[in-house]
Amino acid sequence: AARNQPGPTIRGFEPAMDEAVRWRRETEADLRQAIAEEALVLHYQPQRRLRDQKLVGFEALLRWPHPTRGMIPPVEFIPLAEETGLIVPIGAWVIRAACAEAAQWPEDLRIAVNLSPAQFRHGDLVCTVADALARTGLPAHRLELEITESLLQEDPEDVVRLLRDLRGLGVSIAMDDFGTGWSSLAHLWRFPFGKLKIDRAFITELERDPKLSAIVATIVGLGRILDMTVVAEGVETEEQARILTAEGCEQGQGWLFGRPMPAEAARRLIAEDQDKLSRSAA
Ligand code: C2E
Ligand code: MG
Ligand code: MG
Ligand code: MG
Repeated sequence: AARNQPGPTIRGFEPAMDEAVRWRRETEADLRQAIAEEALVLHYQPQRRLRDQKLVGFEALLRWPHPTRGMIPPVEFIPLAEETGLIVPIGAWVIRAACAEAAQWPEDLRIAVNLSPAQFRHGDLVCTVADALARTGLPAHRLELEITESLLQEDPEDVVRLLRDLRGLGVSIAMDDFGTGWSSLAHLWRFPFGKLKIDRAFITELERDPKLSAIVATIVGLGRILDMTVVAEGVETEEQARILTAEGCEQGQGWLFGRPMPAEAARRLIAEDQDKLSRSAA
């Protein structure tokens, strides 16, 4: 439409518009190809119990190794995947691949998988999850599905019904990025989450501002009352871990405990950890 309109402003704008449209079209085509070729990969980031550093599981994080643009992080393609609906097949693949990997790990380790709101609107999420568990043999209690508060903002009743069906399979549901969403506390009574993940935003400044310790302590208290495990995201320093432990936060995830890593590296980490554990027991 802009093409037919005269005037220097609009004409001057055109190349940039074309560029953006072209970028989108190319990225979408590349992404479709990546899905078809199963070229997307998962990295795994460790989660540890703060009290004794025991490995409790990993979060699966999507990566796109692009043939010419290098490793593309999720923030750069998940929004496009959501808009185009491609997140549905991508998400189904993520669930399957993460379950298949976790099925190789020791039985006490869990796998957390992120879900997009679009996966609740389209496709049959409950079947997708049930099918992944059946095919990989992963016991349902070892799978944790992470959702964000934006999901509950949309259509609480439908979403809560779906979440209950998922829980009916035996999987647990975690609230991701807790504290940053719209009217956070309103969601907690609606649904029995297994886990609350305190958003990184609260952890980053933890050492510098005692008000943040108070907020963390409050979330930990909520978790205790509501019987939800509380996990801190984005733990980067020993001092943050110390404060979190003192406030009674149960688990941590962040660069201090390990960056997201390829599957083989995660397997090595698991083996090293077991070694350490058996040595300290001996
Ligand atoms: P998230 O689920 O909140 O994941 C945590 C993000 O924080 C990850 O970014 C992780 O690499 C990063 N992170 C972890 N520890 C630290 C730390 O100590 N410091 C800092 N600065 N960052 C840390 P990543 O991998 O880029 O993923 C970003 C977001 O993309 C995720 O946020 C999640 O919302 C989304 N995402 C990732 N994989 C998937 C997926 O398979 N499906 C869907 N729907 N979304 C995904
Ligand atoms: Mg997450
Ligand atoms: Mg998060
Ligand atoms: Mg996030």
